[in-house]
Amino acid sequence: MKVLVAVKRVIDYNVNVRVKADGSGVETSNVKMSMNPFDEIAVEEAVRLKEAGIADEVVAVTVGSAASQETLRTALAMGADRGIHVVSDEELQPLAVAKVLKSICLEETPDLVIVGKQAIDDDSNQTGQMLAAMMKWPQGTFASKVELNDSKAVVIREVDGGLETVGLSMPCVVTTDLRLNEPRYASLPNIMKAKKKPIEEKKASELGVDIAPRLTVVNVSEPPKREAGIVVEDVSQLVDKLKNVAKVI
Ligand code: AMP
Repeated sequence: MKVLVAVKRVIDYNVNVRVKADGSGVETSNVKMSMNPFDEIAVEEAVRLKEAGIADEVVAVTVGSAASQETLRTALAMGADRGIHVVSDEELQPLAVAKVLKSICLEETPDLVIVGKQAIDDDSNQTGQMLAAMMKWPQGTFASKVELNDSKAVVIREVDGGLETVGLSMPCVVTTDLRLNEPRYASLPNIMKAKKKPIEEKKASELGVDIAPRLTVVNVSEPPKREAGIVVEDVSQLVDKLKNVAKVI
């Protein structure tokens, strides 16, 4: 069984993101970048399937600039067998990434594709769903548990009211939620070994898919600054403030 995992290079989740002065986006120069945390969970799940003898091969795919290779190397150091780097100097929107992943799926014919439920930079939560739709494959989104047996995937999903269990025929797409697993840190020997693992490079513009953006970012702004709180003297004053100042009751 072959597992394909998508990994995106994003601003590290610990970084205090700064909006560019002209409102065109956020500052990425001289900012620490890392693998999207939900994609670390995707890689971990795929590697565990390999360690359990269920998967034979784990292929990591990234779509992005030359620097994204670093993210692929992290996936390889965590245990993926090989990488595919779809090079694009433009930041691709989720629809375009889904089309690129579709083209890779048609070539690689994986049994299972695992992607993050969302990339923490654009918070789109779209790529996995669009890929599944375009491949006409079933999808198990927001997975907090995945079990594979008899060419079926059983996915426990985190939904508003609790947990939902769905059975999917394979090939299928699974998107990871936070509680699926705790990703490992790559050990130094594995980081060294990962340097020798193969990475195939392809140009996004040469895959024959329409990657033109469909959305224009009109403006990016910082959230309003939180105002200082006040100390109220008693419950009636609290109720008054909630009713007449905050207008929440
Ligand atoms: P999004 O729909 O942008 O929130 O992203 C959801 C998931 O799709 C991410 O967690 C990744 O697994 C995958 N993905 C999105 N963009 C890329 C990219 N440029 N390269 C590789 N994977 C991506």
